[in-house]
Amino acid sequence: MRLVLLGAPGSGKGTQATRLKDALAVPHISTGDLLRAAVAAGTPLGVQAKAVMDRGELVSDDIVLGMLEERLTAGDTGNGFILDGYPRNLVQARALDELLARLQQPVDIAVLLDVDVELLIERLAGRAQAEGRSDDTPETVRNRLRVYTEQTAPVIDFYENGNRLARIDGVGEVEDITGRVLAVVQDAPAA
Ligand code: ADP
Repeated sequence: MRLVLLGAPGSGKGTQATRLKDALAVPHISTGDLLRAAVAAGTPLGVQAKAVMDRGELVSDDIVLGMLEERLTAGDTGNGFILDGYPRNLVQARALDELLARLQQPVDIAVLLDVDVELLIERLAGRAQAEGRSDDTPETVRNRLRVYTEQTAPVIDFYENGNRLARIDGVGEVEDITGRVLAVVQDAPAA
């Protein structure tokens, strides 16, 4: 199963991806995690990316696509994958289709975790306290939500227009939401 998980910051993509990867026996590939690993390793790319991430802006499309291609060709995606945090704009959405066509691994379905913006702000404030992520300050959170609305929301239409989108109510108990995603994923025709 090749799944793209869409949703705003705070919509629960990471939480759900962790549960779904076990249920579907596929790797969870998060571009945010890949970038944070580069930051932690202190690579030149990581140093560059950290400043951008701390402003809540998007790291350059080329850098993220390069990282993603490396990850998708690591040899463990034969059974599929769950992509979390990518694509984040239309350029990335088109680049992903091209890359996956080349790898002969097209996306089966994109799942949107739908959560009201008021609740997102509440959840992100809670996470800032619990985890202390340097991009969870109130100002950065506001900027990430703005970037999401302006750049990532069009990606929803991109998959909807290609009849590849399922919308899931992202409010409720974590395990109920996992169940909702699994129900639509298991019904999705293979690409
Ligand atoms: P969240 O979903 O909570 O916003 P992520 O862990 O997915 O958090 O991403 C954190 C930051 O990493 C983003 O704000 C952005 O700066 C950077 N990032 C992650 N994925 C991408 C991507 N596909 N393109 C550009 N930047 C990205």
